[in-house]
Amino acid sequence: MKELKRFILVGAPASGKGTQGRFLAETFNLKTLSTGAMLRREIENCTPLGQKALSYMDKAMLVPDEVVNDIVRGWLVNDNEEGWLLDGYPRTVSQAETLDHFLAERGIDVDVVVWMDVSRELIEQRITRRRECTSCGNIVQKLDEQCDKCGGQMVARKDDNLEAFARRWKDFEAMTLPVAHYYEAKGLVVKVSVTEEREPQEVSQELLQKLEEYSNKR
Ligand code: AMP
Repeated sequence: MKELKRFILVGAPASGKGTQGRFLAETFNLKTLSTGAMLRREIENCTPLGQKALSYMDKAMLVPDEVVNDIVRGWLVNDNEEGWLLDGYPRTVSQAETLDHFLAERGIDVDVVVWMDVSRELIEQRITRRRECTSCGNIVQKLDEQCDKCGGQMVARKDDNLEAFARRWKDFEAMTLPVAHYYEAKGLVVKVSVTEEREPQEVSQELLQKLEEYSNKR
């Protein structure tokens, strides 16, 4: 199997990207950049970048391309032989083109794009139940107040409501689905379906199997 080292994870909001991202990072020994998590950290630390991002994230809008492009470029500039996973980036075709350009200048290729395919109905159901740990980032689909991993406090994410979701879904369809198609045309996509019946571990196992098949064909 040809080694897979540089991953992009594309999926609708609340499709389970975070969970599968952690699985991929552990399995393939990748460092992860989640642009959403990084922007939330900037907001918590009250940085100028955080202030700027907040004005968009508060309205459940995408942060402008140049802001996230700068974050990712700054992070990737230290790219060495380690593998990485970009979670939540690129989210627009313009971001994808910027990333391609940046990587091409350095002679680096994206190895694979994992596309988490999920229905709108399932996500709506999940969003109303999702809780995230303020200490360790554990995400669960139940209304617990205490994290079963570290005992931290579980909270609903601020952007987790259906009205905000409607906007995020619209952006996802209009701007991020084309990113999945952009990479599909390059033959880089491995797609897994997320359904109500399937536990995250089952999705992970299917993903692993598909990644092996993909890698063997390269
Ligand atoms: P996430 O945690 O990936 O769902 O991201 C949370 C929020 O951060 C999104 O709703 C956007 O407002 C912002 N964000 C994260 N990544 C990007 C990106 N690549 N482009 C634009 N906005 C982003």
